[in-house]
Order: sequence, then structure tokens, then C-alpha cells
Amino acid sequence: MSKRGKGGRAVQRTGGRAERRGGGTKSRRKTPARSRPRLAPAAERIPAIIERLYQRFPEATCALDHQDPLQLLVATILSAQCTDARVNIVTGDLFTKYHSAEDYAAADPSTFEKEIQSTGFFRNKTKSILGMAQALVERHGGRVPDTMEELTGLPGVGRKTANVILGTAFGKNEGVVVVTHLARIAARLAITKQSDPVKIEHDLMNVVPREEWTQFAHTLIHHGRAICVARKPRCEICPITDLCPSSEV
Ligand code: SF4
Repeated sequence: MSKRGKGGRAVQRTGGRAERRGGGTKSRRKTPARSRPRLAPAAERIPAIIERLYQRFPEATCALDHQDPLQLLVATILSAQCTDARVNIVTGDLFTKYHSAEDYAAADPSTFEKEIQSTGFFRNKTKSILGMAQALVERHGGRVPDTMEELTGLPGVGRKTANVILGTAFGKNEGVVVVTHLARIAARLAITKQSDPVKIEHDLMNVVPREEWTQFAHTLIHHGRAICVARKPRCEICPITDLCPSSEV
């Protein structure tokens, strides 16, 4: 059966997969997908998935350079829509100038904007970081609090940022940090069918043991960068290919 695909080109359905027939070029026949045994529910696969990914990425940790909770909080706010590598370059200079919440609270906004400009969205990030620092000084004696409620009460700090601080800076497993890599891999592993980060986090928390929430997130981020990449997952070298319903091998 054929129908019109993007750009008006004919699309041939073969074995459930679409093939394009380009003008004049040979049509490529795909081997019908090998029938795969039905996999167990996510909750039953998770222990083996965790074990194998931990073996593959034993060094997985937070990629944002930091020495204390305040530095991690600043770096995490800067990391929105920006690479960790770029954030680390910017914070390399920033952390030599600003040492405390009081320092950030007293910063000149236009100077600070220039200092963080290369991370993007620098006006909003400046507002968040300086506002967050003022709130730390006024409400918490300049210290970063260690509860979800207090953290999410700070300007510019949502649940995702709070999860990063609680898990990585304070060793508290209060939730799972759902970043792009994590959302994509959780879907490929059929741990979730959701697209909303809060619902994805809920599905992950239901199957991953609480004591693993922080490390599991770090590990999946490494897996998403090295193997289960967005465009074309490298299933042929993946250590959990037999546990993944999206495996292409
Ligand atoms: S088998 Fe492929 S799709 Fe599944 S987790 Fe591994 S790389 Fe990702």
C-alpha cells in the first residue's frame, strides 16, 4: 500500500515500516523486523538495567563543576538551555569572584549579565541567581537549604533544580532529575509513556529503588551521551540491548 509522504513522495509500507521511493533511484528493501520475545514489565527489568549500566559507567557523576551546594545551585541555574561544558567555563571565572550568597546578592546585575552572557538567557538567569541569593541571605542566613519545600521556594528554583541540589550536594534522594536524555531513554526502555517531566519522574520513582534515584539519573545521562544518543542509538554496543524494547539489534 502506498500513500503520500512528506514532500509529496510516495511512501511504501513494507513489514510495518515506511520506505521512500525516490525518483529514479532503486527502492531499498528492508528485512522484516525480527520478531522479539515480549519483554518483562519495567519493574522486573530495572535491577539488571541498573547493574549493567553501573558497570558500564562506574564514573558517572554530576558534570557541573562545584565545590559546595551554592556553587552547584548557581551552575544548575546556568545550565538551562546550555551545555555543561560551557557552564563549567563560565563558572571557572565566576566562582573565583563570588564566594557566598552575600556576594551574589550584592552583585551589579548588568555586570553579572555580561559575566554569564555566553550561557544564554542571561537576563533571566541573572534575575534568578541574584534573586535566589537575596532570598538565601534574607531567609536562610546565606546557606542553601536542604529540603524540597525550601529550595523550590527560592526564585528561579524548580523541582528539577531542587532534585539536583538535594541528590548531588546533600545526598538526599527526594526525586529523579528528568533531563532530556533521561526522558528519551525512559521512553525507549518503556519505563514511561508520558511526555510531562513530572509524570516521567513519577514513573521512574515507581520502578527505580529510592536509594538509586540520584545515581541512576547520573548514569542514564552518561548512557544518553555515549550510547543511547538522540539521533541514532548505538544499540550494537549497548549493554542492555536484550532488556530494551526499542533495541535495533
Ligand atoms: S538498546 Fe538501543 S534504544 Fe535501547 S537503551 Fe540501548 S542504545 Fe538505547
